[in-house]
Amino acid sequence: MYVLVINAGSSSLKYQLFDMANEVVLAKGLCDRIAIDGILTHQTYGKEKYSKEIAMPNHTKAIQAVLKILCDNEFGCIDDLSQIVACGHRIVHGGEWLTKSVLVDEKVIGDLEKCRAIAPLHTGPHLMGLRGCMENMPDTPQVLVIDTAFHQTMPAHAYFYPIPYELYEKYKIRRYGFHGTSHRYVSAKAIEYLGKPAVDTKIITCHLGNGSSISAIKGGKVIDTSMGFTPLEGIIMGSRCGNIDPAIVPFLMEKENISASEMGVWLNKKCGFLGVSGVSSDLRDIDTAIEEGNERAKLAYEILSYDIKKYIGTYMAVLGGLDAIVFTAGIGENNKSVRFDSLQGLESFGIKVDANKNDNFRNIPDPVEISADDSKVKIYVIPTNEELVIARDTIELVKNVK
Ligand code: ADP
Repeated sequence: MYVLVINAGSSSLKYQLFDMANEVVLAKGLCDRIAIDGILTHQTYGKEKYSKEIAMPNHTKAIQAVLKILCDNEFGCIDDLSQIVACGHRIVHGGEWLTKSVLVDEKVIGDLEKCRAIAPLHTGPHLMGLRGCMENMPDTPQVLVIDTAFHQTMPAHAYFYPIPYELYEKYKIRRYGFHGTSHRYVSAKAIEYLGKPAVDTKIITCHLGNGSSISAIKGGKVIDTSMGFTPLEGIIMGSRCGNIDPAIVPFLMEKENISASEMGVWLNKKCGFLGVSGVSSDLRDIDTAIEEGNERAKLAYEILSYDIKKYIGTYMAVLGGLDAIVFTAGIGENNKSVRFDSLQGLESFGIKVDANKNDNFRNIPDPVEISADDSKVKIYVIPTNEELVIARDTIELVKNVK
């Protein structure tokens, strides 16, 4: 019962092979520089790492290289491709067409095609990854697991923007939310950990990585989330601006004489920690710069902890109370200062971190509670595992078919 999880980008493709009998990752790797030249980096656990330049003119050739190395005597872990019962694909944007994990058929491919209109940068590569698998493994079921799906439970007043209604109808402009697979995984773990019926739980999940999003989850269902029509909205991120006054956009386009697409690049790649600090989009570099006395790096850090706090306050109001806050992803799991600072001053709302527990957290696969014993709200650090969710959904859908 092996499942191959695929995360296809425009010039790269990450993969993991799961043995679903015990939910263990057997091998993982990366095809890089697809359509440029091609490098495959692969590792089967317990074996030597493999890295080689292989021509990858397209995603089909990249998948071919992956399947070959998985079956390789020296570096691989399977004897035959028939051992792979299904492939699960990570899809960033499902629009209003793909609202849950699905088994691929012609209609599903058509729905994914429609997503090109609202998420062209991600959808094209996803389709190429999917086609690559279908061409190399024509008899193997393919499943799509969609990042926006978990957020589809939001009520209209949370996902609607106050723009002319016709523009929503015409272009499907609305809040979708992202990192749904991660929010789903860590909120389910928190519910387990809280030990009360799921329907009674009120949780805020903070997925803090290069891209960051915060969600309000009531009774196991998302009722609001910080990212929007695209993954640009919400809190400050590595190089994305997060929330800004929309009037800044036409103002800058005029003043700097730049096009809409240049503006898009600017908002996505030149803002956030990088733009404010001038140092880096990586919070580790920001931390180092702060230690060296860099004031702009300090400002970027302070915007981050302030933004997190602001969303926690907002979502407490939206949820009408709070049982738990969860921190996850690169920053949430690894940066104790961000966890600590973003929760300072919230003690009167029953949110109290235990500094000692927070400092001594080590990244392990299980949830760790870092709240003080007398904190009304539990605070957890829960390492995310989006690939495992994809593999689980995939096997579930394939089982249902049989
Ligand atoms: P992505 O959104 O690309 O998946 P990640 O979840 O890996 O990104 O998060 C990247 C961020 O997490 C960076 O700002 C980085 O500083 C931080 N981060 C990742 N690993 C660590 C670590 N071991 N220690 C401190 N910070 C880390």
